[in-house]
Amino acid sequence: GSVIGILGGGQLGRMLSVAASRLGYKTHIFEPGANPPAGDVAHAVTTAPYEDEAALRAFAEAVDVITYEFENVPTSALDLLESLKPIRPNRKALAVSQDRLVEKAFLNDLGLATAPFAAVDDLEDLKEAIAEIGCPAILKTRRFGYDGKGQVVINAPEEAAAALEDMKGAPAILEGFVEFFKEISVIGARAEDGAISCYDPGQNKHEGGILRTTLVPAAITDNQRTDAVLLAAKILNKLDYVGVMGVELFVTRDALIVNEIAPRVHNSGHWTQAGCAVDQFEQHIRAVTGWPLGDGSRHCDVEMENLIGDDMDRVPGLAKLARYQVHLYGKAEVKPGRKMGHVNHIL
Ligand code: ATP
Ligand code: MG
Ligand code: MG
Repeated sequence: GSVIGILGGGQLGRMLSVAASRLGYKTHIFEPGANPPAGDVAHAVTTAPYEDEAALRAFAEAVDVITYEFENVPTSALDLLESLKPIRPNRKALAVSQDRLVEKAFLNDLGLATAPFAAVDDLEDLKEAIAEIGCPAILKTRRFGYDGKGQVVINAPEEAAAALEDMKGAPAILEGFVEFFKEISVIGARAEDGAISCYDPGQNKHEGGILRTTLVPAAITDNQRTDAVLLAAKILNKLDYVGVMGVELFVTRDALIVNEIAPRVHNSGHWTQAGCAVDQFEQHIRAVTGWPLGDGSRHCDVEMENLIGDDMDRVPGLAKLARYQVHLYGKAEVKPGRKMGHVNHIL
């Protein structure tokens, strides 16, 4: 069987490795951090920084195709890897999703709505952006943000200077605050031959910037469901994408507004493990290895809940419940705000 190289060794890489293994593939993880969660289940692990050219070269030589569970891989590493083995999804998807400014411009060019936004490099930019966009607004770092990190809400123009300090000198973007009714996401997949399959949109609840629960089906109209899936397909096609993507949306009274896209399997797609014959992890492995896409139709209602930090104390109780599927990531140390596992409750 072939070997799939995965950049990033977190829980997403771990669950991709399990899915790959089930289809007869081996995985090889490349991860700078020690003891990555994916390392326990992958067939090989390279622990090295993305600057280590020899390690990148050896990794590429050991695998047949390269994919990723982490979108912030440095460009220099991707350049080298791409010269040696195919990277799926392609570089364009990474370039777009690595930078919130590039991402929003890309989406607007496609005719998709986003929050109003402006680039912010200094205090003068920020004051101008606030005057244009108004308050409340959210200042975010353009790159490297996740779980709501690197973001600050600005409620009044006087808060500009303090908010900018929170960016620690990093290039930023100001976004208008979207008064949404709900947040939903579409997990979509596109195969090598251009076939597309999207999972039923899930409804997401965040707490403190971190995803708490995803519920399927989302409480949206049939029209909204169709629009959400078509919009995701438009993004997948434009990027000539191969693999699974997460598209986060705000639902307002009269529009679907794209928050961000993630060029990988997505936390809000974990429910597919209990709700579909082929879950998002297998779907991604199928896509990047040239298989046909699998059956992603939803056969039951599911609520996914993340187990964050001390939620781990609830595991013995959850383990006794019927219709609950428990997933743990094997992380040794419990930390506040750290995703330790999740449960899928079949409703
Ligand atoms: P992720 O872990 O999903 O990658 P992130 O750090 O990239 O998170 P965002 O998705 O940008 O963060 O924001 C996290 C949450 O904050 C959103 O899901 C939403 O609830 C809220 N939020 C972000 N931007 C806006 C906005 N412009 N208007 C209203 N709410 C917002
Ligand atoms: Mg994000
Ligand atoms: Mg997000």
